[in-house]
Amino acid sequence: MSDFDQELGLRLEAIRAQGLWRELRRVDSPQGARVQLGGREFINFSSNDYLGLANHPALREAAAHALERFGSGSGASRLICGSLAPHHELEDALAAFKDTEAALSFSSGYSAAVGTITALCGKDDIIVLDKLVHACIVDAARLSGAKLRIFAHNDLNDLEDILCWTQKTQSSKLKTQNSARRPGVLVVTESVFSMDGDQAPLREMVALKERFGAWLMVDEAHATGLLGADRRGLAEELGVAGQIEIQMGTLGKALGAAGGYICGSRRLIEFLVNRARSFIFSTAPVPGSAAAARAAVALVQSAAGESLRQTLWERVAQCAAIVSSAEGTPGSGTARSAILPAIIGDETNAVTLASALRERGLFIPAIRYPTVARGAARLRITVTAAHTTGDLAALADAWREVAAQHPEFTARTLS
Ligand SMILES: *Cc1c(COP(=O)(O)O)cnc(C)c1O
Repeated sequence: MSDFDQELGLRLEAIRAQGLWRELRRVDSPQGARVQLGGREFINFSSNDYLGLANHPALREAAAHALERFGSGSGASRLICGSLAPHHELEDALAAFKDTEAALSFSSGYSAAVGTITALCGKDDIIVLDKLVHACIVDAARLSGAKLRIFAHNDLNDLEDILCWTQKTQSSKLKTQNSARRPGVLVVTESVFSMDGDQAPLREMVALKERFGAWLMVDEAHATGLLGADRRGLAEELGVAGQIEIQMGTLGKALGAAGGYICGSRRLIEFLVNRARSFIFSTAPVPGSAAAARAAVALVQSAAGESLRQTLWERVAQCAAIVSSAEGTPGSGTARSAILPAIIGDETNAVTLASALRERGLFIPAIRYPTVARGAARLRITVTAAHTTGDLAALADAWREVAAQHPEFTARTLS
């Protein structure tokens, strides 16, 4: 064996010893409430396809039509010759949907975060992050070279203290340097948190960033298409969307396609086209994917989309009742996200429980470090509009059996 493989073997052993081993599971069916793995059908409680759009006829037709008309590849980056009509139609639809001046699509939510944050911030700036923001935001902030500050999850007092400090730091910098541009402070949070399903206090955060002259970027990955009267997300529901400088999201979750987006002012989008390296130096997304996302944007705004959303909230309430009754805590019935985590703690226990549920035909992943903190491993149950009440009943039965057989099962959901 080469030295290289030997070294990697040692590193892999260390990963395995910590209960953090990961491997791919091949799915032989379309994405949906039921999926085929290894020749067996599972009820899938792990996807982010919250409205069941990933295999929806409207998206499939739009993708197929774009494939026929524009081919399979986009040929170049957007700024060379890859800026095809479906990309522009998607961006117009996104700006209209989110009620912003303009929108820009990226090949993923990850690259939207990396491109945007590194374009906006550099070594003279300060980035302030919620402790639980997604890895793509953490990576982007580190890559930008800006000074980083983390506030405790959803803790407004901690955020206020940090903003107070940034104000002093930045104004002293202004006095000492003759910089051509004003050093900035960028606050970044998610609206609905990906691993806990709880919500950021966006109204109060907007008030704070305005008071301290900071900018706010909100990642609506798990709220787009689900929250707000017009399904734009939590910022709309709380009436603060117009005060958020950078609204980010993904096209790969409730919107059932793939890609990421940034919505905001025309100036912001022009700036990103000129400065976001993950946008500039990457081949444009394939036309079929942009067309599917655009069809999804239309669908979530339609009566059919509203009806899917109502079904989702019904399933969420049913699922919350199952999980909380298994834990002996009263069901709240007020869960406001399709993410219902059962916190297990120990990594190995979480994996054992996930495999016990899999034996009973349920696919629910054990989420471990580094996706969540060490010792905070969990079963992350996600519900979709495509689940039936029968699927939920099967979950209730399996959950009860597994809980009875595994005394180490001490899950408690987050409130
Ligand atoms: C999934 C996710 C992303 C990344 O989006 P992709 O389109 O999957 O790259 C970004 N932020 C949050 C909060 C997410 O959950």
